[in-house]
Amino acid sequence: VRIGNLDGRLVIVRDEGVLDVEELSDGLFPADPQAIYQRWDEFRDWAASHPQGRPSPLDPERLRAPVPRPPQVFGIGLNYRDHAAEAGLAIPEEPVVFTKFPSSVTGPSAEVTLPSDKVDYEIELVAVIGRRAHRVPVEDGWSFIAGLTVGQDLSEREMQWRGTAPQFSLAKSFDGFAPIGPVVVTPDEFDNPDRLDLGCRIGGEKLQQGNTGDLIFGIPELVARLSQVVTLLPGDLVFTGTPAGVGATRTPPRFLRRGEVLTSYVTGIGEIRTSLV
Ligand code: ZN
Repeated sequence: VRIGNLDGRLVIVRDEGVLDVEELSDGLFPADPQAIYQRWDEFRDWAASHPQGRPSPLDPERLRAPVPRPPQVFGIGLNYRDHAAEAGLAIPEEPVVFTKFPSSVTGPSAEVTLPSDKVDYEIELVAVIGRRAHRVPVEDGWSFIAGLTVGQDLSEREMQWRGTAPQFSLAKSFDGFAPIGPVVVTPDEFDNPDRLDLGCRIGGEKLQQGNTGDLIFGIPELVARLSQVVTLLPGDLVFTGTPAGVGATRTPPRFLRRGEVLTSYVTGIGEIRTSLV
């Protein structure tokens, strides 16, 4: 099942077009794309039964953030060996966790204002929580995931590292610093949801290219470890970390510039296009 947020309404996205969930279900399910995670199992079973309706053509420009108001947004630092190496930091023994405040979430074709000339890109696979999770064993981790989407963990590097202690959460939470989309795809849609290609580029300039099979802590492990401490809530987001190639560790550094369009993809989900202004 693939779902999206079309002008603020929850839709099922199929090859032949989009179906409005509230209309198709005769009001059984609400139009609010965020509210659906409260009844995720029920909704997923209904959507997977392939309800019949008349699809409308999809205009990708009208898609907004598929998870518009997550209660909590987790970020994981240094979760790929090649990225930890390029940053000159040790491979972590447990996940390095920060938050992106939920007001930083924006859609798959957003304009994002650069607050400085030190803003960096980080392509990431983003997991969406589908059930309340507390102290989940690692082998059950996937069953708490509603679906996967594409995200950018945009980061203002000067604020992140200035001063005596790192400021990950603030430096990664400027307005629009968490673009996600274009859709949320349920894990069963993938041949292997633990091995997905991902990357980002500006025009013809490839910036990052990786595979989620190289995650140090995979999605089930992250659900298990995070839920040992925090109760994960339906509709929460987990940004799972970025592979090598970020701008700050290049010589010379490669930060984002006004007027550029950053394209980010995960194979099997789609791509998001972020216009930097
Ligand atoms: Zn990141």
